[in-house]
Amino acid sequence: MKFDFTKASEACVKCGKCVPSCTIHKINIDEVTSPRGFLELVGAHQRGELELDKNAKDIFEKCFLCTTCVSICPTSLPTDLAIENIRRDIAEKFGIAWFKRVYFFLLRHRKVMDFCLSLGSYFLPLIFKIDHDAQSMKPRFSMPFVGKRVFPLLNKRSFLQRHKEDIENGSKTKRVALFVGCFSNYHYTKTAESLLEILKALKINVLLPKKQRCCGAPAFFTGDFKTVDKLIRANVEYFETFLDEVDAIIIPEATCAAMIKEDWERFMSEDVEMSKRIKKITAKVFMASEWLYKKTTLAEYLKNLNISKKERVTYHDPCHARKVLKIFKEPRALLEANYDIKEMSDPNQCCGFGGVTIQSEKFELAKAAAKPKIEMIKETNAKILSAECGACRMQLSNAIDNDGADIRFKHPLELIAEVIRQNG
Ligand code: SF4
Ligand code: SF4
Repeated sequence: MKFDFTKASEACVKCGKCVPSCTIHKINIDEVTSPRGFLELVGAHQRGELELDKNAKDIFEKCFLCTTCVSICPTSLPTDLAIENIRRDIAEKFGIAWFKRVYFFLLRHRKVMDFCLSLGSYFLPLIFKIDHDAQSMKPRFSMPFVGKRVFPLLNKRSFLQRHKEDIENGSKTKRVALFVGCFSNYHYTKTAESLLEILKALKINVLLPKKQRCCGAPAFFTGDFKTVDKLIRANVEYFETFLDEVDAIIIPEATCAAMIKEDWERFMSEDVEMSKRIKKITAKVFMASEWLYKKTTLAEYLKNLNISKKERVTYHDPCHARKVLKIFKEPRALLEANYDIKEMSDPNQCCGFGGVTIQSEKFELAKAAAKPKIEMIKETNAKILSAECGACRMQLSNAIDNDGADIRFKHPLELIAEVIRQNG
């Protein structure tokens, strides 16, 4: 994927509309860490006026890639795309840190990942306190680099390992494939299990394609374009083997859904043949809440359940769901039948996850970005926080733990499955 930095940089009229809402600018008030500043710098680099030195690397790695600026900019200038591309140049110049290379290797080799995580899970209780209900784990003692941060749980067996490929729920007409996403496959497996329960209640047959690979998002945001290229090509080839046999491919994770629906084609834009093949696939790809709301009777089904007391829930909009895919009404519409939805002051504000680099080398930024989010969540007095995204869950679960607030995170599909179970 080649991107003309100069064009985007010159097209920026410096109006500044995007600046006050920029996630990094809010916590690092400096023109260089604003969308306008980033665009100016990428333009300067393209013109040969800015060398990509360590200082420039540090600046470009501070962007959260939240796309808030793109959604606000009157001409939707793709600051996110410019930064993703420049991170590729940075990765080529400086290399990628060893632990990220290991992680991306595992993402490319699912069987090795399955084995390593399964092995690791046996030793976890020695080092971590495990909270099965929250699907998280916390170091028993402060560890180098990570302190006592809350991590997503590592399960002995992944979701895909636990189930057979074909699940018959009695439908003669509907069959969906699940693209699970790494968070729901390895860590927050209750999300994917809940989706299976919901599809069972709706009597919709399910295909669990076992050879699905990571969508490539973590590598894309880090500049490892070789990994992204491999993962997209392998997935496209595999998806084509079952595409005609299913009505849809549904995804319970906002980041994976946005990566597949928006970024795969952008990434492959110079390969016309591949772009066509991707287009055919993405026409059938939906976020889970979107498909369940628009294409099934779930909303009606949920209205007819008998729930005596509606628990209060506040819903956070993942950037990749609301800003990129415009999905925000659907999860609320499914939840509001059985939950008391209390909106926080700005559900659309980025949680501050930011990707692998911010979660590892620049975690202080993630912590700072989460602070105002936690305050607005607490103001709702909701005991349950929900979002259709594993990355937001990881970031916000940690922020809740830091704050000591009495709030549990539950994916909307978990909440829906819970009320179905109660009425079962
Ligand atoms: S993607 Fe987010 S953090 Fe990056 S420049 Fe745009 S608004 Fe700021
Ligand atoms: S809103 Fe768009 S045109 Fe205005 S400063 Fe931001 S990126 Fe530039």
